[in-house]
Amino acid sequence: SRAKIFDKEAEIKVNFTDVAGLAEAKQELEEIVEFLKKPEKFTNLGGKIPKGALLVGPPGTGKTLLAKAIAGEANVPFFSMSGSDFVEMFVGVGASRVRDLFKKAKEKAPCIVFIDEIDAIGRARGKNPNMGGNDERENTLNQLLTEMDGFGTNSGVILLAATNRADILDRALMRAGRFDRQIHVELPDIKERKQIFEVHLRPLKLSKEVKSSFLAKQTPGFSGADIANVCNEAALIAARGDKEIVEKEDFLNAVDRIVGGLEKKNKIIS
Ligand code: ATP
Repeated sequence: SRAKIFDKEAEIKVNFTDVAGLAEAKQELEEIVEFLKKPEKFTNLGGKIPKGALLVGPPGTGKTLLAKAIAGEANVPFFSMSGSDFVEMFVGVGASRVRDLFKKAKEKAPCIVFIDEIDAIGRARGKNPNMGGNDERENTLNQLLTEMDGFGTNSGVILLAATNRADILDRALMRAGRFDRQIHVELPDIKERKQIFEVHLRPLKLSKEVKSSFLAKQTPGFSGADIANVCNEAALIAARGDKEIVEKEDFLNAVDRIVGGLEKKNKIIS
C-alpha cells in the first residue's frame, strides 16, 4: 500500500560511531554531511552540491548503515525504499512510486533518499527483449532519471543508492549530475572485523576472556552483518545454557553456526 512505502522514514539514531571500519567511505561521505548541515557554505562560493552517491559492495557490508549514519550525523530525515519495491506488475505503478518518493522528500528537504538494491530498477535498458514486464521497469528507471535531473542541485535532497552489481547498471545513471560518485564498501579486513566486533559486543554481558582480536581472527570472509549475527547468536546460545554472561565458547559455537549457514548459501549459489 502507499502508506507502507514511507514507513521507513524514521527517527534516526544511527551515526558514524555505529559504523566500524570503512574509514575511506566515511571520509568521502563526510562531505555530504557537511552539505546537508551547511549548504550555504558551498553554494555561496558558487559550488554545486552533488546530487547523490552510489554505494557499491557485497551484501551486509554496511551500505544501508552508512546511509542512515549520514542522515543521523546531519540530523535530517531519511527516506528509504528498496529497488524491488518499485517493480510491479501494473503499468505505471513503479514510476508513480518514484514520483511520490521524491515529492515527499522535496517537502522535507534537506533530507536523504536511500534506494537499496537499485539494480532491481537500474539494470541497463533494452538488454532483455524477451523478458516480460521489462517496459514497466524501464518506465520506472526513466522516471528515476527524470527526477534526478529535475531536482535542482541545491534542493537539499541527496540521493544515495546501494548495489552489489554496479557492472549491470544503466550507464545513464552514472552520467555527470546523477550518481557522479561511487563509493566502494568492501568486506572488512582483520582490523576492521575487530572494530565491528567492538561495536556489537558493546551491549552484551561478557566474560573477560572474550576478546575482539581473537574473534576477528576466527572470522575471515565475514561481513559486518555476519559479525552482528555472531554476537547475537552467541548471546542466544548463552541464554539457552542459562548463563549469566556470554563466554568464548558461545562465540565459537556461534561462528560455527554462521559458517555452516554461509557454506549452505554458497552451495546454492554455485
Ligand atoms: P545489503 O546489501 O544486504 O542490503 P548492506 O551493505 O546494506 O547489505 P547493512 O544492512 O548496512 O548492509 O548491514 C546489516 C547489519 O550488519 C547492520 O545493521 C549492522 O548491524 C551490521 N554491520 C554491517 N556493517 C557494519 C559495520 N561496518 N559496522 C558495524 N556494523 C555493521
